[in-house]
Amino acid sequence: MSKMGNATAKAALGRSTWHFLHTMTLRFPDKPTKEQSQTLKTFFHLFAQLYPCGDCARHFQKLLKELPPQTSSRMSAALWLCSAHNMVNKRLGKEEFPCDKLDESYDCGCGPEDPKSTATTTPTT
Ligand code: FAD
Repeated sequence: MSKMGNATAKAALGRSTWHFLHTMTLRFPDKPTKEQSQTLKTFFHLFAQLYPCGDCARHFQKLLKELPPQTSSRMSAALWLCSAHNMVNKRLGKEEFPCDKLDESYDCGCGPEDPKSTATTTPTT
């Protein structure tokens, strides 16, 4: 890949990361175990420490304190992430995304596997 400008690279990283995060929450089980809920919560806290854009990571850590991750079900996680992304959108002067359009906007291409079972099963190819 040719070298991009800083702003372009940061935006490209952001777009792919959001895509991954939304797809992940939308494949989270409807009825997760306590362990699965805790794993997702821990994931977001570790993610916020490790995200490569330092400023973004610092803002996201602050956001997690204001709006703690909701991981009790697929929809609570997906809607929480949608709200969190909308908070970032607002800070960056971007439009609010309609969270009722999540399911039709993200497709993991993982086939018809039951989303209830994906957090603990081996991924299919
Ligand atoms: P993006 O915000 O990247 O969104 C990609 C697509 O997702 C949109 O086109 C839309 O189809 C969809 N979408 C938009 N909003 C939502 C939503 N609420 N729910 C579901 N889908 C949605 N950039 C900075 O300059 N400063 C920062 O501090 C910063 N912090 C970030 C923190 C995190 C955790 C991440 C992942 C990214 C951050 N970014 C930051 C990058 C920034 O959020 C954008 O990704 C980047 O500016 C590209 O924006 P975009 O307009 O292409 O759309």
